[in-house]
Amino acid sequence: MNIHEYQGKEVLRKYGVAVPNGKVAFSVEEAVKAAEELGTEVVVVKAQIHAGGRGKAGGVKVAKSKEEVRAYADEILGKTLVTHQTGPEGKEVKRLLIEEGCDIKKEYYIGLVLDRATSKVVLMASEEGGTEIEEVAEETPEKIFKEVIDPAVGLQAFQARRIAFNINIPKELVGKAVKFMMGLYSAFVEKDCSIAEINPLVITGDGNVMALDAKLNFDSNALYRQKDVLEYRDLEEEDPKEIEASKYDLSYISLDGNIGCMVNGAGLAMATMDIIKYYGGDPANFLDVGGGATAEKVTEAFKIILSDQNVKGIFVNIFGGIMKCDVIAEGVVEATKQVGLKIPLVVRLEGTNVDLGKKILDESGLNITSAASMADGAQKIVSLVG
Ligand code: GDP
Ligand code: MN
Repeated sequence: MNIHEYQGKEVLRKYGVAVPNGKVAFSVEEAVKAAEELGTEVVVVKAQIHAGGRGKAGGVKVAKSKEEVRAYADEILGKTLVTHQTGPEGKEVKRLLIEEGCDIKKEYYIGLVLDRATSKVVLMASEEGGTEIEEVAEETPEKIFKEVIDPAVGLQAFQARRIAFNINIPKELVGKAVKFMMGLYSAFVEKDCSIAEINPLVITGDGNVMALDAKLNFDSNALYRQKDVLEYRDLEEEDPKEIEASKYDLSYISLDGNIGCMVNGAGLAMATMDIIKYYGGDPANFLDVGGGATAEKVTEAFKIILSDQNVKGIFVNIFGGIMKCDVIAEGVVEATKQVGLKIPLVVRLEGTNVDLGKKILDESGLNITSAASMADGAQKIVSLVG
């Protein structure tokens, strides 16, 4: 789960990580009031959306007067920001962070990520702050330094010091930088983060080490024990189809293609997306209905796929092991009864109760193309969608 920058900073502050003072604002009036309360000469007006790259897209403005705060707030609120992370449709700005301005001397990058190769948390840092870390990794990989953290003992001060020296934090600020990294690590572990990225971390004219930006991602599987993090969830930032799917405990991720997929098992779902691609098509989603799905759950899953305007055809690919083919068939029939089916549907069923499943589909009167195998099904749906 993703949260906003201002919320991330709230979390970090509790762990002793230095962040500028700031307030969230939902309207222009609130923005001006927040700036007055902060009382600093310079404030920064920052768009709050679940995507980075706001600076370059005009979502971060430095205001030197109340009038400027008003003008920038008015300009940014309600604006659709298109950044390299939002996709071409962009994201509408509904919240602002009004933050005290700071005198940036230099920008750095600090991040904590879960490294799948070592199965450990890795502290990553670079002197090249402010730019995308992917870009730095591409062009000047020697400028990225890493420390692999042993989960049994956690981040050690000597590791944080080594990072600070490697990225050339001025000597007199190394102590503050170490405290910053230790705090960030505590937050990461205690709050079950999957990413904690500070880009930029800055050193300021008055000798502070601060997080100017904060991107925290949380492991969804741990949210049951992070009630306060769950409070930060902003449903308006999430895909409505994914929200609907999460209500029914379905693993659904929406994608850009036009072939809807209903599959059981994550592995088969991945393979299905691959084979659609292989035959020249584009999957509209990843969907694993799971092993113990009921007909109701399958119905909802099918309805979610049908609600996607981009979907021009559906491929149902089921290997019934724990899942029974007749339950899938019932779900498909029920969903199409409720919302209709005007696009091609290719079904490949195999496994438990396959004959019963096929019978239910045959007797439904639906226009279904049945497939003899996974490859056959993928080819058929790709050619039907055209
Ligand atoms: P992002 O573009 O979405 O990653 O947003 P950031 O929060 O990283 O802001 C982008 C850039 O705006 C930063 O790299 C800074 O250079 C600048 N910026 C952000 N906050 C401040 C601030 O308080 N003062 C000044 N002068 N610049 C800021
Ligand atoms: Mn940033």
